[in-house]
Amino acid sequence: MPTRDLYRLVYYSRTDFAGPEAELAVTIRQILESSRRNNLTAGVSGALMFNAGCFAQVLEGPGDAVERTFERIGRDMRHTDVMVLQFAPVSERGFPSWSMAFIGRSTRDGEIYGGLAGESGFNPARLSGEHLFEVLRSRLLEEEGSLALA
Ligand code: FAD
Repeated sequence: MPTRDLYRLVYYSRTDFAGPEAELAVTIRQILESSRRNNLTAGVSGALMFNAGCFAQVLEGPGDAVERTFERIGRDMRHTDVMVLQFAPVSERGFPSWSMAFIGRSTRDGEIYGGLAGESGFNPARLSGEHLFEVLRSRLLEEEGSLALA
């Protein structure tokens, strides 16, 4: 039976991080640690992708929990140009077993993001939330598949 108060928020943002790769890895690890701890308590699940200087994130859960989480994220100085692509009720979670899955960089995603940013001069309005949600979900399924095969 569908859950009545279930929302999905999809956004896209930019980070102009210029430090060494190791510092970036530490920053992402800190973000994921806070996310997983807080989201588990709040009943929020989702996925975060970092690639080509951009974050893309899906947050899903009760509407007020998603809003409160996103308000904190929106104030975070570790990224800028936060653009919401979708905030809508949904009938099921796309990432039910993840308080926050992480999808790292790959050549293919770099091409997707690099291409979009290049064509539009960074115009996230050209992406649909549904499209970004599907990209994250299929990338996670691919990674889970390759882990299962390893
Ligand atoms: P803590 O977990 O106590 O902080 C952990 C560490 O991060 C500490 O070292 C602290 O110094 C550092 N830190 C915390 N906030 C900041 C900040 N604004 N700038 C620099 N360093 C900081 N939070 C969630 O709860 N759920 C999410 O799904 C989520 N997704 C995020 C996605 C992105 C792209 C970004 C940039 C942030 C995300 N965050 C998320 C983090 C969020 O913005 C807040 O920092 C976090 O929720 C604060 O949680 P806390 O009070 O438990 O901080």
